[in-house]
Amino acid sequence: MFESTMMNMPLTIDILIQRAQTVSSHVEVVSRQADRSLHRSTYGKVAERALQLSRALLAGGIKKGDRIATLMWNHSSHLEAYLGIPMAGAVIHTLNLRLHPDEIAYIAEDAKDRWLLIDEVLLPLFDAFKGKYPFEKVIVVDSTKALTEGRVDYEALLKAAPKDTPLPELKETDALGSCYTSGTTGRPKGVVYSHRSTLLHSVVSALPDSLQLSFTDCLMAVVPMFHVNAWGLPYTALLVGAKQVLPGPFLDPTSLLDLMEEEKVTVAAGVPTIWMGMREALDAKPRNLKARMVVGGSAAPEQLIRDFDRHGLELIHAWGMTETSPIGLVAKLSPEAKGKSLDEQYHMRAKQGLPPPFVQVRVCNDSGEVPNDGKTSGEIQIRAPWVTQSYASNDSKDRWTKDGYFRTGDIATRCPLGYVQINDRIADLIKSGGEWIASQQLENALMGHPAVREAAVIGVPHEKWSERPLAAIVLKPDMKASADELRAFIAPQFANLWLPDAFVYLDTIPRTSAGKFKKTELREMFKDWKWEK
Ligand code: AMP
Repeated sequence: MFESTMMNMPLTIDILIQRAQTVSSHVEVVSRQADRSLHRSTYGKVAERALQLSRALLAGGIKKGDRIATLMWNHSSHLEAYLGIPMAGAVIHTLNLRLHPDEIAYIAEDAKDRWLLIDEVLLPLFDAFKGKYPFEKVIVVDSTKALTEGRVDYEALLKAAPKDTPLPELKETDALGSCYTSGTTGRPKGVVYSHRSTLLHSVVSALPDSLQLSFTDCLMAVVPMFHVNAWGLPYTALLVGAKQVLPGPFLDPTSLLDLMEEEKVTVAAGVPTIWMGMREALDAKPRNLKARMVVGGSAAPEQLIRDFDRHGLELIHAWGMTETSPIGLVAKLSPEAKGKSLDEQYHMRAKQGLPPPFVQVRVCNDSGEVPNDGKTSGEIQIRAPWVTQSYASNDSKDRWTKDGYFRTGDIATRCPLGYVQINDRIADLIKSGGEWIASQQLENALMGHPAVREAAVIGVPHEKWSERPLAAIVLKPDMKASADELRAFIAPQFANLWLPDAFVYLDTIPRTSAGKFKKTELREMFKDWKWEK
């Protein structure tokens, strides 16, 4: 026998706590509070308070595997919960405050959450569903007013926590956190992350060819901490010791840009909608910024990448899902891609990209894996140590292939350099006269027009063709573009059959809680559309 002599050190959250208490104890955590003032803390203090929270949970009878819900914006107390709940052996379940109150209650019930940590500013939201699910304890964070009967002040809870309660031993396969899918098809489903999956995901997210985070960085996660754990970035920043700026409840572009300037943010992360608003603010009043801007959650139009470059901001396009923790693809330029023309480089950066280490991605159709020809499309299937192998409820088993890959429901092609490009969600493809039309490709092309702020394309029932594409357009302020002009603008890129037959102009496009186009609602709005004969 010649066995490995390496230490068998479990990959658990205490690795992050230990680092926060030592090497990076001085690193700042800056949070914007509900009154817009800035609260300054350090990793050392956050870790200390997180451990007080762990002891308070244990003293209150929380047991290994129990779920503790949070209903909070991005700020340092939420970061404390990210660490303190799993350090107690419990599971942090981040509830999405943008959902309908009934939906929040459904998700809390499904997860059987025991306690709730909630921002004081969100109590009115809680009031709208509190009768529907009985949390055992409600702990109010940043409370400024007297609390009603049965509610506990977070600071008082931390203060009263015993100092010597031993913390449980953690296994790397223990559950650490849970998020629910957005449920655009069917009810939301629970995904449960482990300590190991979270730690490995953090290491790989930090790599230079992934989201590239180092202790020289200052990260501002605009993506909410209740959306796939802000893409795991708070953990990644803790791992490497990067400063964190947490913007609190205010997501308007101007104040975010102010924060970036004041706190010298070098990496920010958010969905395309937020960055589109930022582009308008920057076009109106350019600033001297230099940062990397991670974008994902839905497709980043190529034009957005080009426009941000003009402002010194490098958009890094990434793809992922709740089920994939979320990092699955990142569109950094490989040496081969860097050898291409500037236009081609922009095309590559607008694709969803290449899988980082540990991630195995394949694109498959009925004939098997598609060739890397940039043309043949199939569904993305994925396997990685941070991809879920089931839902908490154990249903929808058909989402996994026999050989253990997760079927994403995203339709894509792969180019000769290996970059994956999503054309559409399976559910959003438009079936017209027997041909499939990819709505996302049309949207991206339309959003390349200088007058178009947003474009969402849906299939609308048609007597002859079964469905035809209709484009819902939001124009930039004081700009115009007629249907003929838009059709002519994208015509060179598509077959005639693909071009939308109708263009409607809206003030906004309905969105999901994660800022994605809510196609189900758009389809409902236009289901009785009368096509011209
Ligand atoms: P969620 O689990 O709510 O985060 O949604 C995951 C879905 O969002 C994916 O399956 C994709 O359809 C979509 N998505 C996420 N990132 C991107 C991206 N960069 N480009 C296109 N679609 C994306």
